[in-house]
Amino acid sequence: MYMSTDEIRRAYLAFFESKGHQIVESSSLVPANDPTLLFTNAGMNQFKDTFLGLEKRNYTRATSAQRCVRAGGKHNDLENVGFTARHHTFFEMLGNFSFGDYFKHDAIGYAWEFLTKELQLPADRLVVTIYESDDEAFEIWNKEIGIPADRIVRIGDNKGAPFASDNFWQMGDTGPCGPCTEIFYDHGDHIWGGRPGTPEEDGDRFIEIWNNVFMQFNRQADGTMEPLPKPSVDTGMGIERIAAIMQGVHSNYEIDIFKTLIKEAAAVIGYDDLSNQSLRVVADHIRSCAYLIADGVMPSNEGRGYVLRRIIRRAVRHGNKLGAQGVFFYKLVGPLAEIMGTAGVELKAQQELVEKVLKIEEDNFSRTLDRGLTILNEALDNIDGNVLDGETVFKLYDTYGFPADLTNDVARERGFSIDEDGFETAMAAQRQRARDAGNFGVDYNDAIKVDAETTFCGYSATDGEGVIVALYRD
Ligand code: ATP
Ligand code: MG
Ligand code: MG
Ligand code: MG
Repeated sequence: MYMSTDEIRRAYLAFFESKGHQIVESSSLVPANDPTLLFTNAGMNQFKDTFLGLEKRNYTRATSAQRCVRAGGKHNDLENVGFTARHHTFFEMLGNFSFGDYFKHDAIGYAWEFLTKELQLPADRLVVTIYESDDEAFEIWNKEIGIPADRIVRIGDNKGAPFASDNFWQMGDTGPCGPCTEIFYDHGDHIWGGRPGTPEEDGDRFIEIWNNVFMQFNRQADGTMEPLPKPSVDTGMGIERIAAIMQGVHSNYEIDIFKTLIKEAAAVIGYDDLSNQSLRVVADHIRSCAYLIADGVMPSNEGRGYVLRRIIRRAVRHGNKLGAQGVFFYKLVGPLAEIMGTAGVELKAQQELVEKVLKIEEDNFSRTLDRGLTILNEALDNIDGNVLDGETVFKLYDTYGFPADLTNDVARERGFSIDEDGFETAMAAQRQRARDAGNFGVDYNDAIKVDAETTFCGYSATDGEGVIVALYRD
């Protein structure tokens, strides 16, 4: 059964509404109540205080389609974009939440009903994981749902593998935590990858679609786990991953939204081969960049704005690689707002501004891009070993506006890596020189600094020099 991404979003929210859930709007990508968080990266973020019992709402069940960005910060999928079938910098997370209302039994039951009845997925393509000691979840999956024991995989704490499953969730070192159960879809043995819990699980054959977190304990400072009086449920399903399944394709980059964006990107860049990886990167990056700007983030040299700037510059570089003549990136905002369906309405309202910001940023960077690339490629041609020295990475950053990850992206394409420590050392030396010279005007620190408690409240058209200024309220 084919379903468009927009149809899936509606079906999910309607299904959980029919199960007594309040439909809640997606919150901003800039977290309102959590200064420790770079960008909203999960559906539960806006409900954090409700889970903690600090905020009371007039419902105990909620559902949402939350826009998320995982670039920079704790969850960073930027380096995966273009390389895996399943990672984006921007994606939408469908979620259902119970605040001390239902628990494991209903959460698992709803997930199964949605997947196998509403979406009519064949049960034998689904594999689930549980936390190693969570016998309760095992019993529900095995006895009530009827999944054979050999398709219920017990998984413990992450042993450090980059994407490997970690089936115990915690908000921080102390506080609410608990086991997870994740649902994977088997895309077929023609695709490389192993079942979850095997060394090959980072392949793209078995793709994780839905994580169900059972908040069950309150971890104390001394490490003891106190059972929560009212356990809660937090779930998240990436809409692009389920769309791939419903549209009969393997990669997220082949779904309706990405087909359109890749086609548009190819047209504005002037490039024919739609399977090119750089087109995927551009199509991915326009989503994070456009939505971040619409949510009030402006390109800058620090904090959130610097992450945005880095993503824009990466996209521009990939377009340049395909031969783009002149600015192109901003032209994708319109097609994006259109193809996002109900999730594109807010973007449409801001379209002109988003385009303007992107165009200015792209224009600025394109002035130094070619020169920087020439220097970088020369350095790579003459490299001794396979690591690019930190001084060169710094020079590209300082003089040509190349964020270190962009330099790394180019180097990686040619089989090299960069000396990150050497870059940091050169940065520190630069900061010291600036301090010695009594120059506090420019902040070269690209560490993530998050301003506490700022609320975006719109744009002023210009600051008098043709630059758009985001307005914040403390
Ligand atoms: P993975 O192991 O594939 O990186 P995850 O375990 O990091 O995923 P969760 O934190 O459990 O993901 O998020 C819940 C769901 O959100 C995932 O099951 C997946 O469907 C989706 N998701 C997570 N990260 C991304 C991403 N970068 N792009 C698209 N969808 C994502
Ligand atoms: Mg991940
Ligand atoms: Mg995972
Ligand atoms: Mg997960």
